Amino acid sequence: QVVTRFAPSPTGFLHIGGARTALFNWLFARHHGGKFLLRIEDTDKARSTQAAIDAILDGMHWLGLDWDGHEYYQSQFAARHAEVAHELLAKGHAYRCYATPQELEAMRAEQREKKLPMRYDGRWRDRAPGPEQEGMPFSIRLKAPKDGETVIEDKVQGRVVVQNSEIDDFILLRSDGTPTYMLAVVVDDHDMGVTHVIRGDDHLNNAFRQLGIIRAMGWPEPTYAHVPLIHGQDGAKMSKRHGATGVENYRDELGVLPEALSNYLLRLGWGHGDDEIISREDAVRWFDLDHVGRSPSRFDTKKLENLNGHYIREADDGRLAGLAAPRIGALLGRDLTTDEIALLTRAMPELKPRAKNLDELSEGGTFLFKTRPLDMDEKAGALLEGEAPSLLARLHAALSALPDWTAERAEAAVRQVSEDAGVKLGQVAQPLRAALTGRATSPGIFDVLVLLGREESLARIADRMT
Ligand code: GLU
Repeated sequence: QVVTRFAPSPTGFLHIGGARTALFNWLFARHHGGKFLLRIEDTDKARSTQAAIDAILDGMHWLGLDWDGHEYYQSQFAARHAEVAHELLAKGHAYRCYATPQELEAMRAEQREKKLPMRYDGRWRDRAPGPEQEGMPFSIRLKAPKDGETVIEDKVQGRVVVQNSEIDDFILLRSDGTPTYMLAVVVDDHDMGVTHVIRGDDHLNNAFRQLGIIRAMGWPEPTYAHVPLIHGQDGAKMSKRHGATGVENYRDELGVLPEALSNYLLRLGWGHGDDEIISREDAVRWFDLDHVGRSPSRFDTKKLENLNGHYIREADDGRLAGLAAPRIGALLGRDLTTDEIALLTRAMPELKPRAKNLDELSEGGTFLFKTRPLDMDEKAGALLEGEAPSLLARLHAALSALPDWTAERAEAAVRQVSEDAGVKLGQVAQPLRAALTGRATSPGIFDVLVLLGREESLARIADRMT
């Protein structure tokens, strides 16, 4: 059975790169009917925070990436990590290193000076502790193979070879008894039955070290898939200066729908022919490691916005109204009432075709709830100059006389007024739009009239007749 995992360190928000790693692991597991596990790697107690853990769990829920069973916390397995280190020691695959921090610093300084690769020189590898080491602190290091090479058949990177002479005897257990990341990750993956390790290619080097531990323990080796990192438009590794990097930024600030971000992240680094819009179901059906690209993908905000626009048009109106309501509330400085949210829902078919994100969607819908007299933006103000007030007065009279308030009736009336006044339809419709919405762009003006209703529409028009 396939078992994958996502193993974030809770030291910040959920990075979009991490989210993509989680998504790939999730899809791979679901595709194979296997399990997807979540392990919070909180061994670095100083840098791990509850806020970061919450952000990760939140982001995963939001993206619809459910994990099997409860989430695991790596810090809970510290005793087990130490046990494995001691087992390796007992089997002769590891040794005690009594080098003091000062000694190691001096060793590194010398390597730096001689421009040698910085690695532990194995000074305690074949040395038995003497009486002077009695009771002294020691770390446990892996006795890594010195000769030959280690090969990884990576599902994404292909065959990767490293000379064993390049891998030093790294620390498994620190002198204070705490495990290193290298040990912890291997032990946990083994104990959790992880079969496929899918993660960022910044961990490829670690895989060679981790294999050393796995082989020394005689454990089954997982299949590795190291996915290229996400880069910004300039080709450098995606970081804050390229824009938002946290999933929560995309959700809260940019107003991206989870299905849009998920689709975008999937396409960023994985492909299924030319398909751009891929539903969750199809993604589960099609996902494989063979079509994960080998070169870093560039983050393209435009593409994400286009996808987001697509998913906004597809989304349920009530759901969109629920997402837009708090944003509109923030613009108005008050909460929307239940009736207003119902109105927003009815307006959605007109609002959503014009929005690429929830911000635009909310801005587009705000006019529905403004109080009179409406504030005008600059363009709208300009539309109300000259002939506009008198045309609006004629329009007011015509609309007031309508037997019922429908888009068809309203349209006929507006056309009649423009004809009678001998002006183009737009010369009546544009001031009307400004009067009703305070803006120069809006959904179709006859729909706006219907959404606002007779009383409110006529009042807004009357405000601009002089
Ligand atoms: N905790 C590691 C990280 O966040 C991931 C380790 C792994 O996936 O093996 O980078």
